[in-house]
Amino acid sequence: MKIVKLAIALAILAGLFLVSKILFLAVIILAVALIALGVWIKGGGQSADASVPTSLDGPDFRTYTAVVPDSPLKLKHFISQPEEINVSSSLIMGESEVVLVTAQATKYAAERLADEIEDTGLELTYVYLDHAHLDHSQGASVLIRRFPNAKFVGAPNVVKLQHLRMEADDKMARSRYGKNAAVPSVPFEELDSDSLMLDGRKIELWHDQFGDVGIGEPDEPHTVMYIPDLKALLPTDICYWRGHIMMGGSTSESRSKWKTQLHEWMKMDLEVVIPGHVVRADSDEMTAQGVLEFSLKYIEDYEEVLNDSETSDEVIDRMLERYPGMGHVSALKIGTFIQFGETHRLLFNARIEKVARFLPKALLRRADRKMFDSKKAAANF
Ligand SMILES: [Zn+2]
Repeated sequence: MKIVKLAIALAILAGLFLVSKILFLAVIILAVALIALGVWIKGGGQSADASVPTSLDGPDFRTYTAVVPDSPLKLKHFISQPEEINVSSSLIMGESEVVLVTAQATKYAAERLADEIEDTGLELTYVYLDHAHLDHSQGASVLIRRFPNAKFVGAPNVVKLQHLRMEADDKMARSRYGKNAAVPSVPFEELDSDSLMLDGRKIELWHDQFGDVGIGEPDEPHTVMYIPDLKALLPTDICYWRGHIMMGGSTSESRSKWKTQLHEWMKMDLEVVIPGHVVRADSDEMTAQGVLEFSLKYIEDYEEVLNDSETSDEVIDRMLERYPGMGHVSALKIGTFIQFGETHRLLFNARIEKVARFLPKALLRRADRKMFDSKKAAANF
């Protein structure tokens, strides 16, 4: 009997040994497969270093002079390269001082802008942040080094949002712009005022306006500048010129307020409107009314297509049909993926999308929703 018991015990031990070996092997195979999958997925991402312009296309600047007699004010409009997503900056210049609106998205764009500010020979007093999106704030990391005496300011609610988003913005800037990333973020200071003075001339600040929204709340604050001496309006990302507009987290209610603003501004006697993003190839044809009309029509078209489409791909395809060959397509895609809560597609990785196609739809929707909620919670109060 003893021998039988011993034989059974030995057989169990041998069995356990064999099972543990197989389990061990299975764990190793699984780990290798996961690493290989990770490497494969990583290879499907877009190259961030493509944001570094290899050559500069066309002049960066266009200058406007004051329409009010004896006013010394001038405005220079700078547009970054297409790889740097066509971001507008405005230099409002007086006799001895200059104010900059929008610090640019990337390192090289901010350096070129800083060279231009230096060449004016004027003192940079303020760098103004009109809304808390990284493509308008990151360049501050270059500018603060070049102009340590300038004040980096924005409306209190805009600045609070910028502070909240700094870490995520730096991460996003690195992944989007690679070695052209302007990091680390510079915390702007709160300026609680409805105006700025420049060599004794007044610049009006209109706060809490409605404009483009990424992952933010629909009423994300934008400040619009109005310069009476130039009859110039600087609505930045409330208007674009000939490029797809980021509709992201906007709702029909916020879009209605957005459109009302545009209608109101159309009634003003404006000489200049500087939109937040300008497709450079079309910048010669840009006019004040043209910018307002284009932006309004685009929002109306997007709403019509959105209300009549089932999927994000349908919205994107139909907008591309309505605006064939138009630039800034990334804004259309990002905005539409946000509208549909398709968070995994915001990574712009074709291989992740391939893997996602094999997942059950309910599981993918749940994962997307979870990622979306956590991203939104991190980026908003
Ligand atoms: Zn922008």
